[in-house]
Parts: sequence; structure tokens; C-alpha cells
Amino acid sequence: MSIKDEANRRKTFAIISHPDAGKTTLTEKLLLFGNLIRSAGTVKGKKSGKFATSDWMEIEKQRGISVTSSVMNFPYRDYQVNILDTPGHEDFSEDTYRTLTAVDSVVMIIDATKGIEAQTIKLFKVCRMRGIPIFTFINKLDREGREPLDLLEEIEQVLDIETFPMNWPVGMGKRFLGIFDRHNKQFVKYNGNEEETYIPYDQLDSPEHEELVSSATYQETSDELELLDEAGDDYSLEAVLKGEQTPVFFGSALAPFGVQTFFDTFIDMAPNPTPRKSTDGLVNPETEEFSGFIFKIQANMNPAHRDRVAFLRVCSGKFERGMNVKLARTDKLFKLSQTQQFVASSRDTVEVAYPGDIIGIYDPNIYRIGDTLVEGKDSFEYDELPQFPPELFKKVTAKNVMKAKQFRKGIEQLVQEGAIQLFRGYPMESFIIGAVGELQYEVFEYRMKNEYNVEVMLESMGERIPRWLKKEQVDTKLFDERNLLVKDREDEFLVLFKNDFALRWFEDKHPKIDLIDLFEVN
Ligand code: GDP
Repeated sequence: MSIKDEANRRKTFAIISHPDAGKTTLTEKLLLFGNLIRSAGTVKGKKSGKFATSDWMEIEKQRGISVTSSVMNFPYRDYQVNILDTPGHEDFSEDTYRTLTAVDSVVMIIDATKGIEAQTIKLFKVCRMRGIPIFTFINKLDREGREPLDLLEEIEQVLDIETFPMNWPVGMGKRFLGIFDRHNKQFVKYNGNEEETYIPYDQLDSPEHEELVSSATYQETSDELELLDEAGDDYSLEAVLKGEQTPVFFGSALAPFGVQTFFDTFIDMAPNPTPRKSTDGLVNPETEEFSGFIFKIQANMNPAHRDRVAFLRVCSGKFERGMNVKLARTDKLFKLSQTQQFVASSRDTVEVAYPGDIIGIYDPNIYRIGDTLVEGKDSFEYDELPQFPPELFKKVTAKNVMKAKQFRKGIEQLVQEGAIQLFRGYPMESFIIGAVGELQYEVFEYRMKNEYNVEVMLESMGERIPRWLKKEQVDTKLFDERNLLVKDREDEFLVLFKNDFALRWFEDKHPKIDLIDLFEVN
């Protein structure tokens, strides 16, 4: 098969949701389709007490949550499916955000009994901003939930995206009868177990379905459906691929019900890898030369080996184990021989990979998040990964001053991995760590102690508002603890303002100083 054919059969996506909406349950069902696992319940064992391979670190075990993203891949029909798991815990949005740069589409799960929840909004907005196609699965139809029309309206209003219901539920909870599969023009009957019956629309008037068709719930819903056909938005694959319309599927991941229809339709509609922006213009997936970028670095997935693994998204060409590649940032050539592919239950060595695939590369401490690897003489870099705004800031020091060396080393590596964001006070050097949530600090403390043997002290600075400055406008006299002058990783200056009021006061007082908001999402 040519590189183009291989790329065209790749479907690389992430499943995002608010915790408890049903991501694990749905993922398990998809893995069953891929024959990757034999029975559900092996992905995340928080209920059974067993821990899955995606719960790598001790802290994950203790809390029973998945802290870091994992990748699963399996063949399905003619496709090669790559699912990037994202931590469901709201404290880990930074990692989740970055995973979104490596996917071609996103499946968003919404709990029908709850509607859109806080974290969902943030993640959705990142997808909207980046134009990532979003597919919505409204889950838990086997329970009494909110009205379908209500849920759609909420999605449209809160997330500012058109919706197109691909199917329409008939009843809910105890009255749940099934769904009208509008896309495939069939009624899918819920039998209260894993079996579902498919009845093409034109066979619904046959006598054997009379009981179903004559029920009040069915009648009511088919009226509703008629209205939807007339008054609702038209379906447009083009709008979906631009991220302007989201196809909505109703179902139950647990039953399971509607999952097969959802997945079959989704997989046909979801985009293949598309060209990506680089310093060399758009790079086509079918380009001969291999290229890709690193979106995540993870240390010590196997505590016995203390290794670091960089996750690379293949963007073009064919990857072959042992090939020579160039790290674009340094122009250094080297051989890629230790590569792993991640499956739910084991780590296998990858021999070849194509655009859309995610591979884990052994990292002898040379990679950074956002690095581009290319094959061949001509080197280019993919667009920088966006930095996401930390919401909390803490000053960090080593408990034991004699450990300054390990302290710096630990911080440096965790920053490179993207586990935390580091800012350095100026002109008096101090270390300030930015994170999206409290739990990130717990992970930081734990890893500093366990991997670098340094106990740290963290002192909260509360929520701060970061604004960047132009170098020529920096005047250290204007800043103090309240509005703290710091440098970021690139040695750019920024100010961490105490609050909105302090920021506005400063703006009034120094109208000539440009304050720049570098973050993509706010
Ligand atoms: P995650 O946190 O998003 O991964 O959610 P889980 O998949 O762990 O599910 C959270 C809870 O909701 C679990 O108790 C599931 O059994 C339950 N759940 C998931 N899907 C459904 C569903 O379709 N119907 C019902 N009734 N419960 C569900």
C-alpha cells in the first residue's frame, strides 16, 4: 500500500469528557470492536481494584485516576484507529490540551442527565479555536435524562456550534425504546440487553412492529423528528470538517446501545490526516520523507527502567525502525531504533508507522515538547505548540539548600516534559511554577522526591494574570511582589499581575507600555 493509502485509512482522535460522563466505558466498547480486549473492564480498574497499564505512576494508582494520556491503536474494518486517551480529571487540562494538537478529530461525550459541564466547555473551546472536527456522543440514555432538544440547544448556545442529530432517541430511561438512525435511515430497537434490532424505515409499517409504532412515546418522537427534519440545520460534512457543525449521536455506552452505529458512522466521516503547517509551508501526509512532532514527554512509565518516552505524531512519509532522522531544532542526525507503540495491554515495538500514527520513542534526554523530527536533507519545523495559561502559581524552593543541583535538574526536566511551566523571578532569581490545577503540584512534589531525591517547599501566589512585555520596555523599578516581573522559558519578560484590578491600574498608569496576552485560550 502507498503512503497515501496508508494515511487515508488512519483515524486518529481523542475522546474528551467531563469525569464520569462515560469515557472509559465507551473506550472499552471501542476496544472490544477492535478485538483488542476480550472483556470490558480492563482499561481502567478503579472499580475492580485492578490497575490498568495506562495508570502508570504510583500517584495514579493511589488516586485511581489516569494522570497522563495514553494511546491505543487497533484495526477496524479497513481502518487503522488511533485513540488518544486524555486524563478526565479537571486538574490535568494542560496535558489534555496538548493531546488535542496531535489528533485529527475529537469525540466529545456528554452525560444526558447533566448536559455540558465546566471542563467540557474549556476543552470544546480549544477544539473550536483550532478548527478540530467534533463529534458528540450523548451518553446514558438508559437513564432518565434531560430532553434531547434541550441538550442540543445547550450545545449550540454554550459552545457556539451548529448541531446535527445523526440519530434521535425515542424515550429515555425506563421508557427508552431505541433511536431513529437518521443517517442510515433505520430504527435501532433497544432490547434491554446487548442485542439491538435494525429496522429499515420502509419496513416499520410491517405488522410485526405494530406494538412499537403504535406506542405513545414512538408517536410523539416521530412527530418531533418530522419537525427536526423541516426546521433543523442541514447536515454538512464540509461544516463538520471545519469544526463548525457537530454531528450528535445519542446512546448508552454501558448498555451498550447505539455504540456500533455511532462508531461505524463516525469512522466513515472522521477526517484522515491532513496537511500541516510548518516553516516550509504545508506538509502533505503523502510526502515521501518521514516527519513528525513531539507533543508529549513522559518519564518513568516503567519504574524499573526509569526511562523517558517522547510521544511523536507522524505527519508525513513512512517511519521505519532504525531509520536516520534529524532533530530540526539542533540539526543533529541520529538513528531511531527504540520505538514503542502503545496498546491498552502491552507495549510493542513499532517497525513501521504512517501519518496519523503515534509512536513512543525512547528519549535519552534530548527532546522537547514541540520538537520536529525529519528524514532527509531538508529540515523544517512544525508550528509551535500553543502554550496554555496556567491558572495557579507557586514559588518553589528546595528544603535542603545542599540539593540545589538536583533541584535544578529535576525542575528542568519536568519543564521539558511539560509537566509544569516555569517562570524565573527577575532580577532576583526565584522559581515560580505555573499549573492548571492543584493536582499538578502534587505530581510535581512526588516526582521531585522520588525521581530526583529532592524535597520541595511550595508557597502559593494565588491566581495570577500573566502579560508579556517588550524587552525594550522593561523597567524593573515598576514591579514588585504584587506585580511580579519574571522570565519565561524563552527568556521573554512577563508580569504576573496580582489580579484584574492591579492589571487595569497598571494599564492606566503606564499607557505606553504594551501588555501582551500570549495565551491562546482564556
Ligand atoms: P469516565 O470518568 O468518563 O471515564 O466515566 P466512566 O466510563 O468511568 O463511567 C462513569 C460511571 O458512569 C460508571 O459508573 C459507569 O458505569 C457509568 N456509565 C457509563 N456509561 C453509562 C451509560 O451509558 N449508562 C449508565 N446508566 N451508566 C453509565
